[in-house]
Amino acid sequence: MKAITVEPKKPGSARWEEVSEPDVSEGSVLVEAVAVGVCGTDVEIVEGKYGWPPPGQTRLVLGHESLGRVLDPGPSGGFRKGDLVVGIVRRPDPVPCPNCAVGEWDMCRNGEYTERGIKEIHGYMSERWRIEPEYAIKVDPSLGLLGVLLEPMTVISKALEQVVMVGRRSFWEAETVLVTGAGPIGLLAACGARLFGKEVHVLDRVETGPKPELVRALGATYHSGSILGVPFEPDAIIECTGVGSVIADAIQKIGAGGVLCLTGVGGGGLSGYAVADVAAKVVLKNNVLVGSVNANKRHWYKASRALAQADRSWLGRLITRREKPESFEQALQRTPDDIKVVIQFSEA
Ligand SMILES: [Zn+2]
Repeated sequence: MKAITVEPKKPGSARWEEVSEPDVSEGSVLVEAVAVGVCGTDVEIVEGKYGWPPPGQTRLVLGHESLGRVLDPGPSGGFRKGDLVVGIVRRPDPVPCPNCAVGEWDMCRNGEYTERGIKEIHGYMSERWRIEPEYAIKVDPSLGLLGVLLEPMTVISKALEQVVMVGRRSFWEAETVLVTGAGPIGLLAACGARLFGKEVHVLDRVETGPKPELVRALGATYHSGSILGVPFEPDAIIECTGVGSVIADAIQKIGAGGVLCLTGVGGGGLSGYAVADVAAKVVLKNNVLVGSVNANKRHWYKASRALAQADRSWLGRLITRREKPESFEQALQRTPDDIKVVIQFSEA
């Protein structure tokens, strides 16, 4: 079979090449790839900035936003031939740390977790892949290709859960939610918050095109420009840009008792705010800044339910381009109108 592989930390080493069939040791469920979404992490790995091959190997099969069809469910039960499934990305560290020991691998404390397509385990950009049944999530069959959006939705399921859990420290329930960034994560955050029945606002740089239209189609309000120009103080902000100036302004803008959940990972961005002034604002307004990354099985389950509830035609508009695996290089090039690009291996 063929797979998209890369030699991590070596720029320009990605290839669509012949590899051996997945080994039974990788899981008892055999899956035919349908599609794999591309995200910034994949681009970073291909650029040689990130990623680790499996121990004793030099190349890594890329891809972590999976969707596949079960070819052979194996002996475990629970799956049937033809089921649409998505593979969980992270595996607990082998020590394990207390959080991994209780299934909270998203909260791993020693950093020794592994991740498919990113860190020491082959990913899902191969014609066939195997998975342990306990790490495969069944997708509502009516979603079809849209099931490829499940992995990004898990990031949002966890982030929203974190906001709700932090909010329990006092008499508080978010009514207004501001999402910063209208990329796939931001748009799915807006979709998720709407499913919770919240008043949702989304802020991004662009003023025209599909992003403002997609926000309005959710019944949410679109803003462009600075957060400081948003005419109210949000109860919760889901930060999805990782841009320093946006984060700094979000801290200024969050309402009293409000929660700012950071999901974007960026770098740099000196702010004009003095640290103790920022701290004083956070103290005097009882704000919480909480970082959220990855997702555990509970979030995968919640995300699969949320995706199944979401409007199919709206979700379909998030997938702006489909590329063949042999054209993976085009899939990794982002154009201004792209929201989510997927590499399609077979029909859903
Ligand atoms: Zn751990």
